[in-house]
Amino acid sequence: MVSAEALCAIAGIPPIDLLVQERGRIDEANVEVTTALKKRERLRTIEEWQLRWDRNNDKAQWTKRLIPHLGAWTECRQRRTGYFLTQFLSGHGSFRVYTNRIGKANDNLCIYCKNVDIAEHTIFECLKWASNRHRFEMDAGRYLTPDNIVQYMLGSTANYELTANYISTIMKKKETEERESQAEEKRRQDQR
Ligand SMILES: [Zn+2]
Repeated sequence: MVSAEALCAIAGIPPIDLLVQERGRIDEANVEVTTALKKRERLRTIEEWQLRWDRNNDKAQWTKRLIPHLGAWTECRQRRTGYFLTQFLSGHGSFRVYTNRIGKANDNLCIYCKNVDIAEHTIFECLKWASNRHRFEMDAGRYLTPDNIVQYMLGSTANYELTANYISTIMKKKETEERESQAEEKRRQDQR
């Protein structure tokens, strides 16, 4: 399971208890509820959420590395996270360390290159996707790492689309080939 903290961050929605407190502050303010007031209270919510995120040393470390600043991510207008992008941002998807943990694979090794397969390996390292990555980085005009990719995405709609497209293309292909490889492993086991 993706941790609740990571899910909130990926979705760009503050945790429910902070939203409840925000609502309480607005109700108790006893003044006319204006857009400015709402905006101010939301900023305070995001500040508190950020403090909590900074203190999080638990399961969400990969997501936290990708999305260190919740404010910028939450306010991003072009932010849309589909199925494949969420796999990348959460680290829970067609990555062998994950599929092995949930019992869908027999080891942690990348089906293409036999290195330990986590999201970082697939998106930033695996040679299987070297030409996709090269094209993407040429278009982006920079080397992308887990520490700068989200910042790059937030730069413009074009950046966001380019990145989402790079990641989705890989994850889609990988998911298909991963399934085939799992079926093949199972067939071999059944024959024994
Ligand atoms: Zn690999």
